[in-house]
Amino acid sequence: MKERILILGGTTEAYVLAEALAAHDDLRVTNSLAGRTTDPRLPAGETRIGGFGGPEGLIDYLHEQRIRAVFDVTHPFAASMGWNAYQACHAARVPLLRLERPAWTPEEGDRWDQVEGWDEAVNTLIQGGPQRVLLAVGRQELVPFAGLDDIWFLIRAVTPPDPMPEFPLAELLLSRGPFDLDNERKLLDEHRIDTIVCKNSGGLATSAKLIAARERGIRVIMRQRPRRPETPLATSVEGALNWLEMRKTQWRCEREPARAAG
Ligand code: NAP
Repeated sequence: MKERILILGGTTEAYVLAEALAAHDDLRVTNSLAGRTTDPRLPAGETRIGGFGGPEGLIDYLHEQRIRAVFDVTHPFAASMGWNAYQACHAARVPLLRLERPAWTPEEGDRWDQVEGWDEAVNTLIQGGPQRVLLAVGRQELVPFAGLDDIWFLIRAVTPPDPMPEFPLAELLLSRGPFDLDNERKLLDEHRIDTIVCKNSGGLATSAKLIAARERGIRVIMRQRPRRPETPLATSVEGALNWLEMRKTQWRCEREPARAAG
């Protein structure tokens, strides 16, 4: 009998984990995507798309599908799903592992202002008197910045914001990472950027802008990650696989108590 595994995905790490688990003959893996992207790339294994209907819906799903372990590999800023998974797994007594890439940390030469939320980011921005800002916060989080009428924004997003808030001074740049260092340098120079506003997603795909900013002494307003429940945590796919091996040993012991005792 194959053990049922649920991956809450939407990140690069979730695709890599699904690929690694596809090699395990003793597992049946379902990937769950929120459904924000039309025509998403499908991970290895089975895929279901759309919300569960809060923690209660997820509890029902875990029972119905006889899920034996859950990996929360949602984005560091997708906090609601993490809390839902925590509540649901606790209630359904299903082991849960959070797989999360490490956050970026400032290095010598960085000029970072670390903020808790977008209101604080807006206040910090105004105090600094910037002129030309690279806004890389995601297409759904632009509204707090739209009222700043004497700042020019270069808004970088993967897909067009819909609706696009009315910015008095802005240019939209549609572009999907990974972004390399040379292109990030060019982007900052050509647009004479003096401040970057972004969130601490971590990982290599979007970190080159931070190096280019450091080289130029450009200020970075960095939104910190939201608070998460205290769950077992892995910071790499390898760590997540090790955790699963421990679960497998436990399941074997449950199935074969006599042999495990002997
Ligand atoms: P969120 O605030 O944590 O979740 C909002 C709701 O969306 C959840 O309550 C859940 O609905 C549903 N949901 C989220 N992730 C899901 C998943 N993997 N499978 C099924 N339902 C899911 O998340 P978000 O910020 O809206 O992000 C949505 C998705 O985009 C996440 O999967 C995340 O990994 C990915 N993503 C987010 C960001 C970001 O910056 N936020 C960046 C890149 C990718 P129900 O309550 O109905 O179950």
